[in-house]
Amino acid sequence: MFKGFTRFLQSPGERLKSFFGPESAVAAGLSEPRIIPRQDHPVSRQHFSDAALKVLYRLHNAGYQAYLVGGCIRDSLLGRMPKDFDVATDATPEEVKTLFRNSRIIGRRFRIVHVRFGREVIEVTTFRGKPGDDHGDHIAQQSDEGLLLRDNVWGNIQEDAIRRDFTINALYYSIADFSIHDFANGVSDIEARTLRLIGDPATRYREDPVRMLRAVRFAGKLDFHLDPATEAPIRDLAPQLLQIPPARLFDEILKLFMGGHGVDTFRLLRQYGLFEMLFPEAAEAMDELPWAEPLVEAALASTDRRIAEERPVTPAFLFAALLWGPVQLRQAAHEQDGMPPIPALQAASQQVVSRQLQHISIPKRFSLPMRDIWDLQQRLPMRRGRRVFQTREHPRFRAAYDLLLLRETAGELEPDLGDWWTAFQNADEHEQRRLLDKVGANPAGSGAPRKRRKRRRKPRGDNNGSDNGNA
Ligand code: ATP
Ligand code: MG
Repeated sequence: MFKGFTRFLQSPGERLKSFFGPESAVAAGLSEPRIIPRQDHPVSRQHFSDAALKVLYRLHNAGYQAYLVGGCIRDSLLGRMPKDFDVATDATPEEVKTLFRNSRIIGRRFRIVHVRFGREVIEVTTFRGKPGDDHGDHIAQQSDEGLLLRDNVWGNIQEDAIRRDFTINALYYSIADFSIHDFANGVSDIEARTLRLIGDPATRYREDPVRMLRAVRFAGKLDFHLDPATEAPIRDLAPQLLQIPPARLFDEILKLFMGGHGVDTFRLLRQYGLFEMLFPEAAEAMDELPWAEPLVEAALASTDRRIAEERPVTPAFLFAALLWGPVQLRQAAHEQDGMPPIPALQAASQQVVSRQLQHISIPKRFSLPMRDIWDLQQRLPMRRGRRVFQTREHPRFRAAYDLLLLRETAGELEPDLGDWWTAFQNADEHEQRRLLDKVGANPAGSGAPRKRRKRRRKPRGDNNGSDNGNA
């Protein structure tokens, strides 16, 4: 789309010398922006949605400052079509609300306005100032560990810029003259494909540990590298993620795994010790079961492929694969205690879900189908009589069959059961009968674990039923 500029970014010989001088004090947290006039950058109004333009112009015409900021400018500069639009302004949320009938003030920790146009939502954010400053709503709170509990002190655009996370996210496009204001050398970091936090990285991660997840997400999605200082504190600070409310983490998880670059993102999460803070039991299972990590990678690879092909994906399937390892460990432990397989799976599922909910809230509309997908893993090997057709008709059959294939790919199971179901689905009535007869002759033939797992002790953290019942 922005071919000229993209080529520019990719060829080190042709850097944007005219407006990027030597390293300035800006990255250190300071003040005057570099202003890049319209004729010197490729970001055009044609790449913005009508809704975004409407919001910008209405604010502008009412006498307020109005800028597009964040991902939409970053992505435009990278030659990618922006997918959503964030507006920054000096109007307060109440002032914004009076300008747009179709708007709502949302958030407590971070108050912003959502302006809705059909299915599109434009996020309008008032410039934030320094937490200690005595203006705006006077509301900024920080915990003893440095966690920013609220951030609703209004400020000016300079102050707003240095409170953003990465330099590449602090680029503002002005609707007044179509220039880009670069407060933290963001354009040269885009050029160098570098993710760099603004300010002192450890402090910024402590203020908001989700920034560690955002670092990994942007690295995976944009194929950028982390600047060494931005990268260094992550491993040590990863446990700070345990302070983040489960509901906020659920939204982040979807962005991490369903943004089309799930495999790369997952590997980075593992590398930096972040994954185990989000999915502790899944991480433990990956240490104990050789197939657990390949299974998750296979599920993410399949999700990435589907997203690339613009086919639908569901978090239920992904969570089913992520948590299947721990479900299997707990089920094995229950069976070892003498419980039959079906109740053992049910008890295991319930325990895994309730422990996971302490970290990430999975809405029921995803956790219920996820459990169906697990239950069906036990029904897929039962292929006699009417049961086969009931299984085939189950609304989650397709997802369960897909998980079965991934389990085989990952080496948990021999591939014969998946092959059988593949053949059965494609067969006519006559052929189906033949396939059923074949199973009749050898009913125990499939769904067998590839290798017998050695008998295991109970998984750690299982305090015998105290986490029962509240899934
Ligand atoms: P995308 O929309 O592609 O996920 P984005 O950068 O636009 O990426 P948003 O979550 O939409 O991400 O946030 C918009 C902007 O708000 C960011 O670009 C950044 O400037 C700022 N921002 C968002 N989250 C944080 C945070 N946790 N800390 C500091 N600034 C943030
Ligand atoms: Mg955005």
